[in-house]
Amino acid sequence: MNTEHPGPTLAVVGGGVIGLTCALAAADAGHRVRVHDAGVTDRAAWVAAGMLGSLGEGHPGEDELLVCSARSVRRWPDLVARLGDPAVMAATESLFVAETSADAEYLANLAGFVWSRAPRSHEDLRPVDLAEIRRREPGLSSRLHSGYVAAGEGAVDNRRLLSRLRDAVAGAGAQFVDERVTDLADIDADQVLVAAGLGTRALLPDVDLHAAKGEILRLRRTRWSVAPPSRVIRARMRGRQVYLVPRDDGVVVGATQYEPLDEGEAVPEVGGVADLLADATDLMPGLRTYELVEAGAGLRPCTADGLPDIRRIDDRVVVAAGHGRNGILLAPYTADIVLRLLTGSDVVGPELSTTTTPGGGTW
Ligand SMILES: Cc1cc2nc3c(=O)[nH]c(=O)nc-3n(C[C@H](O)[C@H](O)[C@H](O)COP(=O)(O)OP(=O)(O)OC[C@H]3O[C@@H](n4cnc5c(N)ncnc54)[C@H](O)[C@@H]3O)c2cc1C
Repeated sequence: MNTEHPGPTLAVVGGGVIGLTCALAAADAGHRVRVHDAGVTDRAAWVAAGMLGSLGEGHPGEDELLVCSARSVRRWPDLVARLGDPAVMAATESLFVAETSADAEYLANLAGFVWSRAPRSHEDLRPVDLAEIRRREPGLSSRLHSGYVAAGEGAVDNRRLLSRLRDAVAGAGAQFVDERVTDLADIDADQVLVAAGLGTRALLPDVDLHAAKGEILRLRRTRWSVAPPSRVIRARMRGRQVYLVPRDDGVVVGATQYEPLDEGEAVPEVGGVADLLADATDLMPGLRTYELVEAGAGLRPCTADGLPDIRRIDDRVVVAAGHGRNGILLAPYTADIVLRLLTGSDVVGPELSTTTTPGGGTW
């Protein structure tokens, strides 16, 4: 740990997006931080798409998640500024599109739910017809029905983000230990944050998590290809979801979501890859000339109620895990809450949950 500062020591177990973002917030607030990470192979944030959607994540029954997501989206510009690399932000807007009238009805139900829970969202989530969809994204299919634009809901390049976060955490004086932690009692630190994704279960058996597997593809543009979309495209196609997230050199296509029979190594299944390719090329026919450079799969760390588990376990240990399909989106929000738990500011006790309104963090 950085011994130049007299601050309290914090060991962070897990160097994924949650662990690193919390480590950065804590280091910036004066903690002496050490990050223990088991390696990149089972890191969900590495395979992810990096979408930052709150309005688009609003599903009936998930009221609390909508509130957390909306707060976290607003914290992202500060985090990107802290990282000092605007290119981390890959898109600043999402376009939702429906292929059939049934798909359009499904999207209308989601929009209705968001508007009812967040009245101000009328300005940010706006219906668009096919003509406007084609004007904004000429590469999309001409057989779409209608859609919505979600302003301010973009995406980050998640791999660039992880690299910049690690640089920033190191730059803030933290140390890294490349090892799997097997027992929290072995860790020498005033406080311990367990942010180990699905690996949290092995360290804190009371934290109830399950995996939701997802296939995801990375396509690279060739010299003969049409340009990638310039915003996130989230489509409902004949009852299935597919999204296209722009990158400098192409698009990320995602993602399936199902409970895996086996939580071993996350290997993509043929059916998931075939469905994604079929839906993506129907949505944007020009993708047929792109190169398929990666077919990946990851395991989302999920809780039973869909909300992340962020709380104090005992005097020394805090947990932040179970971010499901939204861990990248929710990273700044999580860091704000964790910082409050670590410093005791405005914290009411172990029962502090994600319903607590976090104020601004260190950035
Ligand atoms: C296909 C797919 C697409 C996704 N798309 C999006 C998206 O567009 N937007 C979004 O917001 N979210 C998305 N997600 C979800 C997001 O990736 C996760 O919610 C997020 O990565 C969880 O972050 P985490 O840091 O808790 O866990 P992880 O990213 O899994 O990181 C956990 C880290 O802990 C380490 N670790 C585990 N056990 C130990 C141990 N015992 N000792 C030391 N280190 C340990 C691991 O090596 C790993 O580095 C997607 C996920 C998948 C699978």
